[in-house]
Amino acid sequence: MTTATRDTIQALPRAELHVHLDGSLRAETMLELAREGGVSLPAEDPDQLALAMRASHATDLVDYLRRFEWTLSVMQSAPALHRITRELVEDHAAEGVRYVEVRYCPALNTQGDLSLVEAVEAPLQGLSAGMAATGIQGRIILCGLRNTDPSLSLRIARVAVDFKDEGVVGFDLAGPEAGYPAHHHLEAIELARENGLGVTLHAGEAWGPESIRDAVERCGAQRIGHGTRLHEDRELEEIFRTAGIPLEVCLTSNVQTRAVPSLAQHPAGRYVALGIPITLCTDNRLISGTTSVDEYWQAHQHLGLGWDELVRMAREGFRAAFLPESEKSSLLSAFEAEVRVLNLPSP
Ligand SMILES: [Zn+2]
Repeated sequence: MTTATRDTIQALPRAELHVHLDGSLRAETMLELAREGGVSLPAEDPDQLALAMRASHATDLVDYLRRFEWTLSVMQSAPALHRITRELVEDHAAEGVRYVEVRYCPALNTQGDLSLVEAVEAPLQGLSAGMAATGIQGRIILCGLRNTDPSLSLRIARVAVDFKDEGVVGFDLAGPEAGYPAHHHLEAIELARENGLGVTLHAGEAWGPESIRDAVERCGAQRIGHGTRLHEDRELEEIFRTAGIPLEVCLTSNVQTRAVPSLAQHPAGRYVALGIPITLCTDNRLISGTTSVDEYWQAHQHLGLGWDELVRMAREGFRAAFLPESEKSSLLSAFEAEVRVLNLPSP
């Protein structure tokens, strides 16, 4: 029987469906870009910067989100966005991820000279460069922000649709939940869906199950980012189980934003036991100080999930990908073939 170790997890093919571009830079790159752009950062050394950026002691989601002002200060040019996206694909490939959906809100990259369209073109080109260098697959999800005017979300959804044949596969809403219901942005969400984009919405992270219900029932989300507080509404939980609506679970991030008090108290194990499809994601590699391997390892260490359950969560990641069926099934066949080899008794 295969046991879960950091090595076997590294060898388990995984899909990363929830990772924010502006929360997942390499600290070294951030420093180089800051030097080039004359931007000052809270530290001069990569290790110290990584520490300063890590949200281990955030008081809540809003405090967690404050760190993005620093990352965004070096993400206002096409070459910077190209490089950061390429490196993010390379970092995923290096730790055994085979498919990654990178998300970000392009409106946050237009504080300099970039237009909204240019703020989408540059990451798409970086994504292609990363795929060519590594052989893994990558796609982009564009995010609107819950706490901005819905007309901005609509503009972002329009750009997402314009680039849907060039690597943009989904639309999301991020940002503070309380007081900013997803349905305020329904026009953007519907535009994305009617044009064949996938819709995933952050919900149930910084607000209760009513936020998840709004995202699924009123806005028709096909996946939910986090969904941490789903268990507080047993009827809704049952809907997720029977309809097989996937949750993109981010364990470390949920502890940092205080969506849960500790890893051991995270409801992900409950969702797995109930048969709700969940897949593990990092949310923000730099700001959460984590990796895809770390998240699977945490699930094993703190939630008591064994190898078979880790395999199931990895499989759900490919199943829930915003890809055409043919591309999804070829990723899934490759996944099954590799898992078969991993599950062979050692000689
Ligand atoms: Zn997120």
